[in-house]
Amino acid sequence: MDDPTGEVTELLQVLISNACVNDGTPQSGQEGRNADDLRSYLDGSGIDMQTFEAVEGRASLVARIEGTDPNAPTLMLMGHTDVVPANPDGWLRDPFGAELVDGMVWGRGAIDMLNLTASMAVAVKRLAEDGFRPRGTLVYLAVADEEAMGALGAGWLVEHEPDAVRADFVITESGGFRMPLPSSGGPKLPVMVGEKGAYWRRIRVKGTPGHGSMPFRTDNALVKAAEVVRRIHEYRPQTRILDLWRGFVEGAELPDELSGPLLDADGVVALAESLPDPGMARMIHACTHTTFAPTMMRAGVKTNVIPDAVDLDLDIRTLPGVTAEDVAAMLREALGDLFDQVEVAATVDDEASESAVDTPLWDSLARVTERLVPGARTIPFMLVAATDARFFRRVGATAYGYGLFSDRISFTEFAAMLHGDNERVDQESLRLSEGLWEGTARDLLG
Ligand SMILES: [Zn+2]
Repeated sequence: MDDPTGEVTELLQVLISNACVNDGTPQSGQEGRNADDLRSYLDGSGIDMQTFEAVEGRASLVARIEGTDPNAPTLMLMGHTDVVPANPDGWLRDPFGAELVDGMVWGRGAIDMLNLTASMAVAVKRLAEDGFRPRGTLVYLAVADEEAMGALGAGWLVEHEPDAVRADFVITESGGFRMPLPSSGGPKLPVMVGEKGAYWRRIRVKGTPGHGSMPFRTDNALVKAAEVVRRIHEYRPQTRILDLWRGFVEGAELPDELSGPLLDADGVVALAESLPDPGMARMIHACTHTTFAPTMMRAGVKTNVIPDAVDLDLDIRTLPGVTAEDVAAMLREALGDLFDQVEVAATVDDEASESAVDTPLWDSLARVTERLVPGARTIPFMLVAATDARFFRRVGATAYGYGLFSDRISFTEFAAMLHGDNERVDQESLRLSEGLWEGTARDLLG
């Protein structure tokens, strides 16, 4: 078949310019526009399609090529259709202009993850037009609301339309980027086999109101809250070297002076503290610890009133195996004697999820990757944020985050563009991803 690059590029440009911006409110996003355009793109190639809407305008599209053997496993390619907001002030080009310049497509969603959503659609259409009749069913899900935790998208579909989205194997974002590792051999491409949990907590600190002109010996909630923040910042949660992390470090084929400390509970923190690259240090720390970040604080009613209450929000991200009880115990440890003086409320309880590495999907991705990127090897990795993969892992599917990128996009650039300014993707990356989906569907579903 001919080169799919142009087709993926054009479809990506359409999805970017639809600007399905999800700001977290139920009426934002309006992903029905992307769902409609994907439906018309796939129309006529003999693919079964359905759309589902949790609330008006927030449609998700399910397309499928039915397998010939009902007992064969189902593969789902899942891409989200929403994007986060973009502030044009920091951009060199219009974030929703979808311009193609020097082989790069610019715009919000170019790497998160309309690039993959578009290349998946092109792969599915090409397979259908090629008369692909797999044993197992191939499902394509273009899903709304990923950027606001999926309550109106994947979470809703798994709960309300389980038959439409049932799958044994699921691939979604994000992985396959070139990590700046001093590995021996060819590139090592991370496959996200797990992701951390999110346990968000709101801490209410109480005080006694009084006149701001007489602060001496007052019970000021803001001053107490400042100490709570300080203790959380100083808290050193226990280091844990998980099998998943071990698999990553061993697979990365690093020099001994690096792999030694990375696999040692004491060595890993010392290494992270000494690394010149703070981005890499943060990642290493987050992969080996449950983390606590104070992110929001609200206090006071007026400049001349001593505040009697403060609400402090914590973004807590847990390693696999950590429970809500563990989180409470860690908070108690962090706050010490202040723990009993505050109220802790749970705003999000979302446990970590993980899929096995010894699966047919892993083997297929490894084989297809080697074919498309000569010398490359897939290695397991853990995403420290959340994706829609967790909904499917929880109902028993093997779900990975993966994609392919050319070496034109470095990991540092990738990280900076993610929800950042000047998001863009090169066409070679689009071609590679399209080849990955087509190749994996053929390899796994037969
Ligand atoms: Zn995303």
